[in-house]
Amino acid sequence: SRLVGGSADADERAVEAVLRPRTLSEFVGQERLREQLSLVLDAARARGHTADHILLSGPPGLGKTTLAMIVAAEMGAPLRITSGPAIQHAGDLAAILSSIGEGDVLFFDEIHRTARAAEELLYTAMEDFRVDVVVGKGPGATAIPLELPRFTLVGATTRTGLLPGPLRDRFGFTGHLDLYEPAELQRVLARSAGLLEVELREDGAHEIAGRSRGTPRIANRLLRRVRDFAQVRADSVVTADIARSALEIFEVDTMGLDRLDRSVLSALCKNFGGGPVGLGTLAVAVAEERETVEEVAEPFLVRAGLLARTPRGRVATPAAWTHLGLAVPQRAPF
Ligand code: ADP
Repeated sequence: SRLVGGSADADERAVEAVLRPRTLSEFVGQERLREQLSLVLDAARARGHTADHILLSGPPGLGKTTLAMIVAAEMGAPLRITSGPAIQHAGDLAAILSSIGEGDVLFFDEIHRTARAAEELLYTAMEDFRVDVVVGKGPGATAIPLELPRFTLVGATTRTGLLPGPLRDRFGFTGHLDLYEPAELQRVLARSAGLLEVELREDGAHEIAGRSRGTPRIANRLLRRVRDFAQVRADSVVTADIARSALEIFEVDTMGLDRLDRSVLSALCKNFGGGPVGLGTLAVAVAEERETVEEVAEPFLVRAGLLARTPRGRVATPAAWTHLGLAVPQRAPF
């Protein structure tokens, strides 16, 4: 797994549990979304109702799971967790829904990856709090309607555009999470350092925040690596120098690029004069699969304004040349 990747495996999620904010006021940044959510929840509580279904969209590691847990906590309701990939058949979903209690919050991660076969069931469950459980096969099959208690579904997706329209329409509220500013990540880091009992100086937090790709999960992960380094090589105090030295060892540069990102950029500039070059050719030059270049490296390079995808191929921006310490060519292809 990648040090600067947005997703987490099960082990990391266990470590992260310690760092999760428990209330909306502990949750750093995303002011607008926090205010909106707080209104939605206050209104539901005032009416004595369950909250409307909530859809949260945004890249991995920005706090969607954390917010779902906060919604449950603020509503004083139990949280149930499932995910799109875990639902392969309508029956998988029926099983989960039939065990849900009145007012429960069901967190549905990666909801855009739910199997088609379960979508219809999800629609009626969300809209009418009812599922039709099909018993038997072929002409003898019958649908038995099952009433569900009212619950709140909190769906998470990387992009709302990935959801079928009818599913999107069934959410009463949609909130979007943006990448965090470095100053916000510094606050996330200061909070995490307190919980992990790491002595983190302000300049150290600043150094780590700048390399965290706008993502709290990555910030916390880098903090753990820097802490290891500080314990072994320094007196456990994380200063800017210590953070810099540690992250150099782990090959995370000042913008948060890792070795793969840099090799793609560097091939683009040095082998192809900055492009345009086709994805396949670029992938061969860095000895990686096309998918790795396209899905692992490029999204952040594009977001960071270092690489552009054009109809004629991939192009390095002036910022890419500068970041690699190269002179921006006079007749660059941009
Ligand atoms: P997602 O579900 O979007 O992938 P998570 O909610 O699992 O992201 O968050 C990943 C990690 O980052 C968790 O440890 C969480 O505590 C931390 N985190 C995310 N957003 C924030 C925030 N706004 N403030 C503090 N910590 C955060």
